Amino acid sequence: MHLFSTIAEVRNFSEKVKVSGKSIGFVPTMGALHDGHIELVKKAKAENVVVICSIFVNPTQFDNAEDLKKYPRTLEADCELLRSANCDAVFAPSAEEMYEEMPRLAFDFGNLETVMEGKFRKGHFNGVGIVVGKLFNIVSPHKAYFGKKDLQQVAVVKRLVKDLNFGLEIIPCETIRETDGLAMSSRNRRLSTQGREQAFNVYLSLKIAQEALKMGSTVVHAKAEVERHFKNLPQFAIEYFEIVDFETFEPITLFNPDRQTAICTANYLEGVRLIDNIVF
Ligand code: AMP
Repeated sequence: MHLFSTIAEVRNFSEKVKVSGKSIGFVPTMGALHDGHIELVKKAKAENVVVICSIFVNPTQFDNAEDLKKYPRTLEADCELLRSANCDAVFAPSAEEMYEEMPRLAFDFGNLETVMEGKFRKGHFNGVGIVVGKLFNIVSPHKAYFGKKDLQQVAVVKRLVKDLNFGLEIIPCETIRETDGLAMSSRNRRLSTQGREQAFNVYLSLKIAQEALKMGSTVVHAKAEVERHFKNLPQFAIEYFEIVDFETFEPITLFNPDRQTAICTANYLEGVRLIDNIVF
């Protein structure tokens, strides 16, 4: 497995692979890899000849300096995992390599910027758009793999590819969970043992609302059930809990079984921001 730290190296590798007629699958990550990331790599490997994974904790997508500082960085262990998943190349640049100058370009992803992740993380999707656009231009893959755990991010990246004609396909992948339902996340390792044991309540809250809607509850009632659940769990602080239309991400008032609905949440536990969603 190759380990590249410069743009020139990975670009050169990608060009050679493409000249030889092989397909490239790309998995962008911020490292501290877990089985959720590795599933993306495995899917990419099953659908392409060559897989490139990037590991870059992108400063321009963090709206919180403390979160950026505390973000886990485990390059050696990440490379071990990637090697076992038959990844062909890792691109792990420094912030200086990626940002010789701070980009002045600014995106506007419309209503994606005003709801949920867009609303609570100001500038986050602009940073995502910048780094993903840069990485697509550097790596030039045929397909790129993203997790549905970051549901709005998938929509943002699809928009970027469409609006700027990146000639590549976005492949959304299922959320990988721990056995208790907790969505795998690099941030989970910041939880204490006790916090980790309680964190499944974030997923449980999505299921509580889903069940209520399926039983005919209104959206208001379903949300009230979730609030009631967390009344006994003061260690959680819900940032948002939204029931939205899957296509538009606009909050709904009435559940329509003929349309896809997404339940999305961000919830703080021990100062760690946990996000999750289900689509049904
Ligand atoms: P991150 O390193 O958190 O930026 O994530 C890199 C990619 O892995 C993104 O496309 C995420 O959506 C995806 N990802 C993170 N956690 C999971 C998970 N539990 N299941 C599936 N994909 C995930």
